Amino acid sequence: MTAQEIIRCEECRRPLKTEASRAAKIGPRCAAIKAAAKDLSSRQRAKFRELLSDGAVIPTSRPGEFRLPSSDGSSTYRTTPRVCTCKWGRKAAGHPEMHGCIHRALVRLKVRPQIRAADRRTAFA
Ligand SMILES: [Zn+2]
Ligand SMILES: [Zn+2]
Repeated sequence: MTAQEIIRCEECRRPLKTEASRAAKIGPRCAAIKAAAKDLSSRQRAKFRELLSDGAVIPTSRPGEFRLPSSDGSSTYRTTPRVCTCKWGRKAAGHPEMHGCIHRALVRLKVRPQIRAADRRTAFA
């Protein structure tokens, strides 16, 4: 038996361990980030990555709705994976051909694991 070839994540270059990740050539976290950022411009993507670590996404009492501070911190936006109350978000609402806003992308990344957990509960109930 030969040693398994090292396949690295195309985003972060870490060696991939699971069969599914190796086949996709990307790790689960990087795949989720990439999927969440898919309708952003390249400039937005850089900002999006900066914002990933600072925990600015605050849950509200409504499931799937979050509160995010504006970039200057003077106000907050209400954001779901599809709708955002920021200026750009309101403009882009209902226009899938336009870039989305960073807030929506951050929320998409946040709600994704919860959606999956819910799917699992239903599947094995
Ligand atoms: Zn990666
Ligand atoms: Zn927004």
